[in-house]
Amino acid sequence: QPKAEIIAVGTELLLGQISNTNAQWISQQLALYGINIYNHVVVGDNLNRVVEAFSQAHVRSDIIIVTGGLGPTEDDLTREAFQQMSQLDVVEHKPSMDKIEQFFKERNTVMTPNNRRQARVFKDCIVLDNKVGMAPGMIVTFENRTWIFLPGVPREMKSLVAIDVLPYLLQLIGDKAIIKSEVLRFIGIGESQLEHEIKDIIDGQSNPTIAPLATDNGVTIRLTARTDSLENAEKLITASKQQILSRIGSFFYGSNEQTLEQQIIDNLRVSNQRLALAESLTGGLVTSKLVSISGASDVIKGGIVCYDTKVKEEILGVSKETIDLFGTVSEQCAIEMATNILQVLDADIGISFTGVAGPKEAEGKPAGTVYIAVCTKDGHQQVEEFKFQGDRDTIRTRTTLKGMEILFN
Ligand code: ATP
Ligand code: MG
Repeated sequence: QPKAEIIAVGTELLLGQISNTNAQWISQQLALYGINIYNHVVVGDNLNRVVEAFSQAHVRSDIIIVTGGLGPTEDDLTREAFQQMSQLDVVEHKPSMDKIEQFFKERNTVMTPNNRRQARVFKDCIVLDNKVGMAPGMIVTFENRTWIFLPGVPREMKSLVAIDVLPYLLQLIGDKAIIKSEVLRFIGIGESQLEHEIKDIIDGQSNPTIAPLATDNGVTIRLTARTDSLENAEKLITASKQQILSRIGSFFYGSNEQTLEQQIIDNLRVSNQRLALAESLTGGLVTSKLVSISGASDVIKGGIVCYDTKVKEEILGVSKETIDLFGTVSEQCAIEMATNILQVLDADIGISFTGVAGPKEAEGKPAGTVYIAVCTKDGHQQVEEFKFQGDRDTIRTRTTLKGMEILFN
């Protein structure tokens, strides 16, 4: 199994002005295909240090992916550094040069000489046409190592990885193994409970590998099978998936890129029901998640952010007696919010969120006290109390996720 490494070039990364999202994204993509990344390196725009980083990578890794420093300016040193290390010849790539000249001609601006740099590539390398920018990517095979050079701009980098780099790498490792992976997504079960339920399955098998992970959208399990054919890989994954779902299938909501919000929208559409939301401490987070799905307008009537007590009373019509007697952080208030939003927005289901996001307590209730109520047009009412731990952000995220879980079930 080849060892891969990612080197991000750029002083702005070292200064913390931007995050190394390129390495994060590339790692996620390669993980999907079971390619193991062993190192993330960040190095500033300094020739000697880039050469040093490249030399170290060349010793320890089989596949080295470099992002950044391919542009036209003085601080773009990736090409020079690799040239210095490898002593490979650099030549001008005519199609890239034509493209750059064309770009300046179309805009009627003068091309400064340094722009030619972007069209310079290593002799005999594979040049990757950049469909969304100027600088081409490159794949260089040098001393039995595969070096892949990509622009730093995330949009350009992603386009090249998806179109050229992934197919190339799969072919490169293809004669050794077929790798297939599937991510199973769960909601309503914690990471430790999930591990507990399937511990014997995890321990008892290595193909596919079973890797649980807690995320902001619930817990996932990544299954990765390696074998000699795609057909067999799919068989291994299917068998393992069935075994896992026979234990914890009731928490399963989808595979791979499927989202909880998409499932909720689909379920509402199938049951022909329209949803309205009254959000206090979540401030619209749940509504925002749901309307991120195209076609949400068929089933989402809308939401009201009723943060201030006056808004709960005057816009949503929560009774003064309820607020005086029980407070806004209460079962009673949550139920009235859900029933009223249903009526105000003429929906079939109403859901409400009220609670203490913190950090301070409110109405004598500690931070993390949350009530979520669901009411339906035919009079069904349900309300639950939660005690979430964490800071303000965490409490709001957990409330949102819990709301999604309730809507899914
Ligand atoms: P350009 O032709 O635009 O100069 P380049 O290949 O020289 O591209 P850089 O100059 O290193 O790339 O980076 C261009 C921009 O891309 C940076 O300003 C930064 O916003 C973004 N970028 C660079 N590296 C990363 C990274 N590792 N993660 C996220 N964003 C990055
Ligand atoms: Mg640059």
